[in-house]
This record gives sequence, C-alpha cells and structure tokens, in this order.
Amino acid sequence: MNESLFLDAAQKAGATKAALIDVSDIVLDPAYYDICENGHCGSFGLCYACPPDIGQVKENMERIRSFSRGLLYQTIRDIEDSYDIEGMGEAAAQHAKIGVRVRQEIGRFYSGRTLHLSCGGCHLCPRCAKRDGLSCRMPDLVMPAMEGMGVDVYKTTLSTNLKYINGVNTVTYFGLVLFGPEETPKHTQPYI
Ligand code: SF4
Repeated sequence: MNESLFLDAAQKAGATKAALIDVSDIVLDPAYYDICENGHCGSFGLCYACPPDIGQVKENMERIRSFSRGLLYQTIRDIEDSYDIEGMGEAAAQHAKIGVRVRQEIGRFYSGRTLHLSCGGCHLCPRCAKRDGLSCRMPDLVMPAMEGMGVDVYKTTLSTNLKYINGVNTVTYFGLVLFGPEETPKHTQPYI
C-alpha cells in the first residue's frame, strides 16, 4: 500500500500538517486518564468521546498497540490571545469537522480496520448529548480523546516533524488515525 495516500487524505481534508508514525513510536502513559479524571479539560464524564465512557485506559492502550501505523495530523488556527476561549472552541469544532473529512478521504482507498482518535471533548456537536442524558447523535463518527486513551501527544510529536505548539496566539489540535497491519479484519463497530 502507498502510505503517502494517508498524508494526501489529511491534506485534502484540510489538516494543516500530518506525519506517518509507527505505533511503537506513540508514547502511552496511563497517567493521562488520571489527568482527565482530575478535570483538566472539564469533559470527564460529560462527553461520550472522553473517559470514563471510552473505557479503561489499559485496555485502550492495548487496542492502540494492536495497530501498526498511524497518521498523526494537526490543525493550527489563529486566536486573539490565550484567553480567547470562543476562538479555541471554534477551532476545536473546525478540527472535528476536518477529522470527519479525514475519515471520508481515507475510506476512499483503505478498507482495513482503523481507529480514529482526536482531541478531547469531541466537538462534533455544540453541546454533547451526554450532558443532557441523551444518546450520542453520531456514534459512527465519534473520535475518542487521545489523552483519555493514554496517548502522550506532546512526546509522540517529538519523533515527527509536527510541533506541539505553533506560535503566539495560535491553537493546535491533533488527530490520530491508526491503521494496519493490513491482514487484520475491518473494524466495523462504532466505538461507543
Ligand atoms: S457526536 Fe455529539 S453527542 Fe456524540 S460524543 Fe460527539 S459531541 Fe457528544
């Protein structure tokens, strides 16, 4: 398989930059679950794409390790300043839409199983249905939170050409599509 197609998919979808990585280079640390639980981003228990709804961190780390390769992509957006919460929210929603397009683009050429992770809080809906005790509106599109799955995003970027922080008055969000090895069966179940 021509893996550059994954990079092309990220570019076509609107990601700012992307890199291919071996899954063995993804840095995992179960402590990230604890950071979620301690309210780091405020989505713990309030979003279907976040802990505890995405399951146990050790099982999720094993699930990540069952793949062989990953497409790590990022979106970078300008914000007014570090207090621009509205701008960060808009950038996160834009990132989620781009994540959906990444999935669509990959689906054009890849039929193997994948697992698509993204930044915390999902952001596909303006307000997660979990907050109102309702079912997820788009279970087929949900991208579990990388940190909640145990991914140390910063350390993972160190083996790539992607920067974790991209300058003053910018916000950067990451997504990760895991794929391969190619002989594994297609995963067809939604994550939640
Ligand atoms: S798709 Fe909507 S309801 Fe489902 S996890 Fe994402 S924000 Fe929540």
